[in-house]
Amino acid sequence: MTKIGLEIHCQLTKLESKLFCKCKADYRSLPPNSNICPVCVGLPGSLPMLNRKAVEKAAMISLVLGCKIPEKISFFRKNYFYPDLPKNFQITQYNAYEPTSIGSEGKVEIEGKEIRIRRIQLEEDPGRLIYEGSSEKTLITLVDYNRAGTPLVEIVTEPDFETPRQVRIFLNVLADLVENIGVSDPYIEGALRVDGNISLEKGNRVEIKNVGSFRDIEKALHFEITRQQSLVARKIPVQAETRHWDEARKITVSARSKEEEEDYRYVPEADIPVVVIDTNTIATLQRQMPESIIAKRERYIKKYDIPPQVADVLSSDKFYSDLFENAHSETNAREIANIITTDLMGFADTREKKMELKINAKHLLDLADAIINKKITRNSGKLALQEMVKTGKSLSEVISMLDLGHVSDTFSLEKIVDEVFKEEEKAVSDAKQNADSVNYLVGKVMKKTKGKADPSTTIEIVRKKLSS
Ligand SMILES: [Zn+2]
Repeated sequence: MTKIGLEIHCQLTKLESKLFCKCKADYRSLPPNSNICPVCVGLPGSLPMLNRKAVEKAAMISLVLGCKIPEKISFFRKNYFYPDLPKNFQITQYNAYEPTSIGSEGKVEIEGKEIRIRRIQLEEDPGRLIYEGSSEKTLITLVDYNRAGTPLVEIVTEPDFETPRQVRIFLNVLADLVENIGVSDPYIEGALRVDGNISLEKGNRVEIKNVGSFRDIEKALHFEITRQQSLVARKIPVQAETRHWDEARKITVSARSKEEEEDYRYVPEADIPVVVIDTNTIATLQRQMPESIIAKRERYIKKYDIPPQVADVLSSDKFYSDLFENAHSETNAREIANIITTDLMGFADTREKKMELKINAKHLLDLADAIINKKITRNSGKLALQEMVKTGKSLSEVISMLDLGHVSDTFSLEKIVDEVFKEEEKAVSDAKQNADSVNYLVGKVMKKTKGKADPSTTIEIVRKKLSS
């Protein structure tokens, strides 16, 4: 059986400062090595000061993933020598004698399958190495310490995944969860980074590092399964090793033999005292946490009578559920949920596209009311929405600009139905016995009015004329 486990690094992007100093947590777009101080570059004599908010946000991740939070958390030094780490050790957490990391033994359910969370730890991000060309062939490596010391939460799962697809679904759920509790923006480049480990039936464990996106981790795991299967078929043993994902070639390449935990010589970090997290603190954090995605979904179904599948999609997307919360009223919630999930999400499914949408709550509110009050058909509504998201114009401007007003007055509709009856004699005679032909005639009327006719009025007129 294939066993896949994950190590996910999630930056706490919503924090102001780094984990142990006052430098900015948002290091992006700053000139290299301008966001540093003696603490985050580890100069002798500097002392770390733990960021209280980082501990709180990490605890929130633990809570949302169903983990136990120990009464006392402590920090360890993980020793390794690499230029991205100016101190030659990383301050992280380690369960040496008892659990002292911020979370353990959690679980997340995806499609009825339980994925166990082994451990959650709070640690500092290292600096960034920038290679000229590819990392294998480069002669020049530059280092930027702006990122060094930014708060990072590592989430380690048990090897509970059986397929790369389950991994992708889990990662999407995880991204939704951390976004919803407001600790991280998972769509910022590099905010959520994933390493996978994979072993086939009783085989050695191979780690895949350096994967940039969710889609690529799925591809990398697929590649590894195929590679390992072909080794097994040729009776060649699979080496325990770390492999890098080569994004350009879409293959994994051997990086180095895997270090064992003992290679890191973990020692307790004596410069940071043990932190006590009492039950009051946890209760306060729980109160501060926003409504969970699950609770939100239930509310949408119970309070607004939104169909479960629609509530599912809407509640798990923070951008669209925020839009929904701002736009809806008691009477139009269902219609607005419908507009968002069937039309709007189709226009913009990526973060970049969402950011470009020139739409606000008022647009949606007006559109839903116009559809409910039959001032516009659903079809025309879709066209109007398309124009509003592009231009930001109001609904009334868009309706008159595109001439989308409703043909609902019976007199003009009757005239159009008459025209269709003349053109479609055969369908008219069939329609007296066959319901499909009625739909066909209604379709012709809709086509003639470019979708502006109100469907229920049209059906009524067609039926009346057929029976007369
Ligand atoms: Zn600093």
